[in-house]
Amino acid sequence: MGFPNNMPRLKLEGLSKTYPGGVKALDGFSLDIADREFIAVVGPSGCGKSTLLRMIAGLDEVSAGRILLDEKELNGLPPRDRDTAIMFQNYALFPHMTVAENMAFGLKLRKTPRAEVASRVAETARLLGIADLLGRYPGEMSGGQRQRAALGRAILRRPKVFLFDEPLSNLDAKMRAQMRVEISRLHQSLASTMIFVTHDQVEAMTMGDRVVVLKDGVMQQAADPDTLYRHPANAFVASFIGSPGMNLFPGRIMDVTGGPAFVHPSFTWKLPEAVRPRLAGYQDRDVLFGIRPEDIGSAEARRAEGGPSVTAVIGVVERLGGQACLYLQAEGEPAAGGKGGELTFAARPEQAQGFHSGQKVALPIAAWNGKFFDPASGSSIF
Ligand code: ADP
Repeated sequence: MGFPNNMPRLKLEGLSKTYPGGVKALDGFSLDIADREFIAVVGPSGCGKSTLLRMIAGLDEVSAGRILLDEKELNGLPPRDRDTAIMFQNYALFPHMTVAENMAFGLKLRKTPRAEVASRVAETARLLGIADLLGRYPGEMSGGQRQRAALGRAILRRPKVFLFDEPLSNLDAKMRAQMRVEISRLHQSLASTMIFVTHDQVEAMTMGDRVVVLKDGVMQQAADPDTLYRHPANAFVASFIGSPGMNLFPGRIMDVTGGPAFVHPSFTWKLPEAVRPRLAGYQDRDVLFGIRPEDIGSAEARRAEGGPSVTAVIGVVERLGGQACLYLQAEGEPAAGGKGGELTFAARPEQAQGFHSGQKVALPIAAWNGKFFDPASGSSIF
C-alpha cells in the first residue's frame, strides 16, 4: 500500500500519563515516527518506557495527548483495533498449544481461511528459523526459541507497528546478542515500523535508527545514535550513553595567565580562541566539562602538543582483550571556588600495558572533543 514518505506513520502528541495515586509516569511526550523507522526508547528503570508502549498498544489509557497512526486517531480504540502488536519479556505463549497452534491463534480468531493460516505459519517459521519446531510445546524449547515463536505470532498478524517491551531481558548474554541481530534483520525484511524499549543503552544504540532517551517521564533527546553520542543534549544523556558514559568534571571558567581557561583541581585547559566566545557568558562561573573515556590517554590525545593532562591515581584496570579501561581518582588541590575533592572517572588508552592499580599517572586529554554543560540545568552549552 502506498504511503507518502514525508508523512509520519505514527504521531505521538503531548502524551502524558498520571496513574491513580498521582504518579506521573510520562509527561508531554511528542514524537513523529516515520514509516519503517526503528525507534529505540532507553532510560533507567521506572522512567516511563513501558507506560509509553502500553498507551500506544491501548493497554493503558492516556491522561492527555493524542496517538495518530496514518492520520487515524487511536485514542479510545481497543487494542485489537489498533494495528499494533506488543511483545513482552515473558513470552506469553499458551503452554498447552504447539508452536504452530500458538502462532496461528490470532489469525484463527480473525477467521482467516485455513489454507492461508497454514502457509503463513510455515513462511514465518522459515523466516525465524523455527520451521522444525512447529510441533513442539513451549515447555520443550529454550528461552530463545520461545522468544522466536512469540515473535512469529506477532508477525503473522501483520501489524503496522511492532512494539517491543524489553523482550530480551530474560535471555542470557549470548542469546540476547543473537536475538538483537535477528530483530534488526527482521526489521529489514518486514520493512515495518518498530518501537523497541530497553534499559540497556548498548541495545538501544546498536538497534535504533533513532534513539529516544527518557528520564523521569520526560524525553531528554531523540536523535540518531551518532548524534546522541557526539552531541548529547544534556549531562544526563552524556553520562547515560556510552560504556562507561561520558566523564563529567566539575570546574570553573576563569582567567589564568594568557586568557580564559577551564580549571579543575587535577588539570587546567587554556581555552582555544575558537571556543572562548561560546563560553563568554560563563566567565568566573562553574561549569561541567564532559569528555569521553576514549579521549583520555588515547593516541589522539598523546599526539597533540600543549593540551591538558589530568593527574590521577589508577583505582582499577579493566582489561578487554587488546584494550583497557582505567577507573581513576583525579588528584590535586580544589580549584578556587570549585567544589574540588576527589572524583572518579574512566579512561580508555589503546593499550593496557604499563598500567596498574595504585599507579599515579598524567594522562593527556583530547579536550577539543569535549563538551560543556551548565551545572544547574544540566543543558549542553556546546
Ligand atoms: P519503565 O518501563 O521505564 O521501567 P514504567 O512505565 O513501568 O517504567 O513506570 C513508570 C512509573 O510509573 C514508575 O514510577 C512506576 O512505578 C509507575 N507505574 C507504572 N505502572 C503503574 C500503575 N499501574 N499504577 C501506578 N503506578 C505505576
